Amino acid sequence: MTALVLSGIAASKGIGIGRARVIVAGSPEVPEYLLEGEQVASEIERYRLAVAFARTELADLAQRVRGQLATELREFIDAHLLMLEDDMLAEGPLEYIRSRSCNAEWALKQTRDALIAAFTAMDDEYLRSRVDDIDHVVERIHGALAQRKDRDHLGEERLDDAVVVADNLSPSELADLAERGVRGLITEGGGALSHCSILCRALGMPYIAGIRQASEMINEGMLLIVDADRGITLIDPDGERLTRYRDRQQEQQRRRQRLQSLCDLPAVTADGTAIRLWANGEAEKDLDLALGCGAVGIGLYRTEFLFMGRAEPPGEEEQYQCFSNAIAHLDGRPLTIRTLDVGADKQVPLGQDPNEPNPALGLRGIRLSLRFPELLKTQFRAVIRAQQLGPVRLLLPMLSRLDEVHAARELLNQCALDMGADASSIPLGGMIEVPAAALVVERFLPHLDFLSIGTNDLVQYTLAVDRTNQALGSMHDPLHPAVLQLIARVIAAADSAGKSVSLCGEMAGEARYTGLLLALGLRDFSMHPRVLLEVKEALRGADLSNLSGMRESLLQADSADQLEQLLPLS
Ligand code: PEP
Ligand code: MG
Repeated sequence: MTALVLSGIAASKGIGIGRARVIVAGSPEVPEYLLEGEQVASEIERYRLAVAFARTELADLAQRVRGQLATELREFIDAHLLMLEDDMLAEGPLEYIRSRSCNAEWALKQTRDALIAAFTAMDDEYLRSRVDDIDHVVERIHGALAQRKDRDHLGEERLDDAVVVADNLSPSELADLAERGVRGLITEGGGALSHCSILCRALGMPYIAGIRQASEMINEGMLLIVDADRGITLIDPDGERLTRYRDRQQEQQRRRQRLQSLCDLPAVTADGTAIRLWANGEAEKDLDLALGCGAVGIGLYRTEFLFMGRAEPPGEEEQYQCFSNAIAHLDGRPLTIRTLDVGADKQVPLGQDPNEPNPALGLRGIRLSLRFPELLKTQFRAVIRAQQLGPVRLLLPMLSRLDEVHAARELLNQCALDMGADASSIPLGGMIEVPAAALVVERFLPHLDFLSIGTNDLVQYTLAVDRTNQALGSMHDPLHPAVLQLIARVIAAADSAGKSVSLCGEMAGEARYTGLLLALGLRDFSMHPRVLLEVKEALRGADLSNLSGMRESLLQADSADQLEQLLPLS
């Protein structure tokens, strides 16, 4: 008998096997009626109490969850608490109650519809993605108004042998289910970038999103295999398939344990050369992960997250608090703070033209910071203050001209002078991610203390392939000989100048490229902490003397196939 197979979006990898637990909440009817004049005041009070109750529920949830889940969930809980405090939801519906005598549920529904319409129309992808959050928070207030107990529809039972099938789940619902031992998740809605996906990836829970007909096709109690490596769900599989999948599941489990056991082992190649593995980070949770897997420090701390989704940029004090928290967290390991790199795919309105014709070639990275020097000075001042608490390095994004380094250094020195401080102890590094900078890197080197190669952009600009354009797919290719030539060139030049050079694009975190990058001379890798142990495993198996001898022939290869013949890439 062949199993029925449903396809969806592989949102969080892994294999989950269990019996279906179908949870479809549906949207309860929202009552709509007009109030009598004297009921308005008590309806306003009822709405306020519901918002207060929703806040208490969220605060309780924050208290209840522990461990990795707590770190991940904190971000959502904080965002949802902020929304509950914001006038748009705390006060907006009161206007409908006062001026139109709508009942609270109806008032909330109209506020929600207006907000969703406004957010959906926004250019900013990040703000558009907050639509989900609005719905989760609104649903929570509706629940409080109806005096429904939080997550009533989820039941109370343990779910150790279950695969949950749902229409959609909020982060808090998912947290609740995960605590009860769920093996895998399928939803009808959602996508790879949804909150649910982010949380499932953090939890290591296999998850397939977007199986539209899931609840129609799957009945309670059916045996399911969630193959989230391939984005398919098998319904009622035969014994042979089940055994095959159980074997694969065990193999994955063994691999996870093997990687975990590498945490405390040194990052040295098989023939004894120490390699430095750094983590990339953009929020506090990444710092925990970085420490957990033994990173030597943060090699790239993206500061954009401080600026996203808000009207006003963060001031010096807020940035200082953020950097000093991170430094305290890292307990003596260096923090490499990259100055603001917005523009192109990360739009933050800071006074630049929102209709730039070619934003990826426009006012982004260091160009934007130098055009609005107060932005850069605010970051520099926060860093100068924070460096007293621990080792900090500064990194300038998207350099293409040497005068950008001079201008930035001058601003840094000027800030230090104004503050009666000394900036000379803060290493100033540059990102090499524009081919022009790579081609004349020797001229940059005397003026920079270290380099970091940003391959995400270097590939984009070298090959003229938009990194965000999915239609171009595999054309964003780090193995293109032109890219490899530039990487090798930058590493060799930094070595000759006695300066350190790391690589912090996605390429550094792909274990199949570790041997290749070692062969090109790379000794500092910076990557998402979740993949650090895979890279450590690869380099611990690598023979550096053998690899170094292959450098020239690797650079001569015309294609990935030719590279593969010299050095296996998987
Ligand atoms: C890069 O371009 O490789 C890089 C690390 O920077 P970002 O992805 O933030 O542009
Ligand atoms: Mg970049």
